[in-house]
Amino acid sequence: MGYAAQAMERTFAMIKPDGVKRGLTAELLTRIQRKGYRVVGLKQFVISRELAENHYGEHKERPFFGELVNFITSGPVVAIALEGENAISGWRGMMGATNPANAAPGTIRADYATSTGENVTHGSDSPESAERELGLFFKPEELL
Ligand code: UDP
Repeated sequence: MGYAAQAMERTFAMIKPDGVKRGLTAELLTRIQRKGYRVVGLKQFVISRELAENHYGEHKERPFFGELVNFITSGPVVAIALEGENAISGWRGMMGATNPANAAPGTIRADYATSTGENVTHGSDSPESAERELGLFFKPEELL
């Protein structure tokens, strides 16, 4: 009693092609596990254009959409399903702001990202997107 309720959540995290290419996978998984999140799904693969366009569907009309789809399909990504207390906003906090110039010190994007486009990681921004994106990237039996 007297403690705020903490919601156990699942979220979708991704190491983008720039992060994989630069050999940051182990470092980022270490950060995730040190934080205490459980990795309940994990796979490395090259995203199809169809999946990329679906995943980023909300940005379809934006000027950067074509470039974003080209980038995200340019090499392997690591798709990660995370579980933990308040994991959705917690993982977004660990990533930092979209534009690394605005990302707080110590966040992943402040430490590693080179531009707004190539910013190393993705994280769902709400319970609805987490459910939608986990469903796009993982079959139910792939989540342990
Ligand atoms: N993006 C971009 N240019 C922009 C805004 C976004 O290339 O001006 C890319 C960037 O890779 C970003 C992704 O599109 O991570 C999704 O954008 P969103 O605003 O959802 O940012 P996020 O949730 O990834 O921080």
